[in-house]
Amino acid sequence: MTREFQVQGVRVSELARRYGTPLFVYDGTVLRDRFHGLRDRLHPAMEIFYSLKANPNISICALLHSFGARAEVSSLVELTTALRAGVPPQQVIFLGPGKSRQELAACLDTGIYAVVCESIPEVALVDELARERGVKAPVALRVNPRFAVKRSGLAMGGRPRQFGIDEEELFGQTDLVKRFPDVDLMGVQVYMGTRILHETVIVENTTRILDLAERLSAALSLDLRMVDVGGGLGVSYFDGESDLDAQVLTDGLNPVIEDFTARHPGTRLIMELGRYLTAEAGTYVMGVRYTKTSMGERFAVADGGTHHHMAAVGIGSFVKRNFPMAVLNRLDEPATEEWNVTGPLCTPGDTIGKKVPLPPVRPGDLIGVHRSGAYGPTASPGLFLGHGYPAEVLVHEGRCHLVRERDRPEDLLRRQRLYDPTAPDAADVPH
Ligand SMILES: *Cc1c(COP(=O)(O)O)cnc(C)c1O
Repeated sequence: MTREFQVQGVRVSELARRYGTPLFVYDGTVLRDRFHGLRDRLHPAMEIFYSLKANPNISICALLHSFGARAEVSSLVELTTALRAGVPPQQVIFLGPGKSRQELAACLDTGIYAVVCESIPEVALVDELARERGVKAPVALRVNPRFAVKRSGLAMGGRPRQFGIDEEELFGQTDLVKRFPDVDLMGVQVYMGTRILHETVIVENTTRILDLAERLSAALSLDLRMVDVGGGLGVSYFDGESDLDAQVLTDGLNPVIEDFTARHPGTRLIMELGRYLTAEAGTYVMGVRYTKTSMGERFAVADGGTHHHMAAVGIGSFVKRNFPMAVLNRLDEPATEEWNVTGPLCTPGDTIGKKVPLPPVRPGDLIGVHRSGAYGPTASPGLFLGHGYPAEVLVHEGRCHLVRERDRPEDLLRRQRLYDPTAPDAADVPH
């Protein structure tokens, strides 16, 4: 018998038969091991907040919360998702550079722990909304620090950015607490960038962020009840990369955290993690529809593609690098050939893998992209050519749960309207 990819004993061919392809499969055990691998080593004062952006599926959020994760959200839907997943409001923070009045109002009305403001005008708007409600709004300031992170996949601080308030500017705003009487300035947040694969870089960032928070709170007379040190912990996808070692990382981080908590025992410390928690737990499963050759190269044309997995096109690189891939229904066959794995979109960009070493591929095979639990469908052009979202299945404690239904054509067409040339001017719609 050929060896098949299994998730907690459930064979991939069985998953494909039951739910169809393309399909995202999440392994609840991997999710738990990822969370606990860090949680059990990390200084207990550092809380882990799950960044829903990485995978906003409500069941993923609920499962991570059941292990002990809190939630970091950046939209009204993410906020609603986290609350419906059972995360208590006091374990939710909301950040993002362009929050709407409606989103900020929801932050205050649901009583979340902190609104992370990314500009002074945003603090002013929160102040106004708090006054209207007769409440004091808990606000943390996102700082765009003077220093930049080295060796991250995508730097988010230390240069001109829409995120946060420049460090220089903030140090000049010594009247901030007085200027916004209905805002409770209670914290500092810094997020340096994503895909960091060097333990020392994360330790260095954290050290600098805690130091910055300390200096800033003194300069602005903030009651520093929270510091969010961001995170940006990466996972390896490509040849030549290697995963972070949770032991090495926490051996470096814990003394820094201990040192800070000794001086600020009442301050809540937060690390926001998305990719690190979910990437490894997910596999994108595609069915091969056709195989062919073109000008000497082999192509496996699959039913899934970059509309569900844009990240697989290549992250921050001009050279196409492949995610780890395999023919899931024949794991024991040696990879003796090179295959281009492409999807149904009418663009050459719909190439999930280029010259991937695989065994001879046949129609009906199931090709899997590993480490696909983060930045999948919701970070991809899912509506391109009207394909819509794939099904998502969570396997946990040996049981399969359909956690997102596949989009059907009706789902995708529902919100479009065929115009009537004889109709009067359309009425305004609420927005
Ligand atoms: C995207 C983002 C995260 C999550 O990033 P990962 O690299 O997936 O962990 C956390 N915080 C902020 C501010 C972000 O923008």
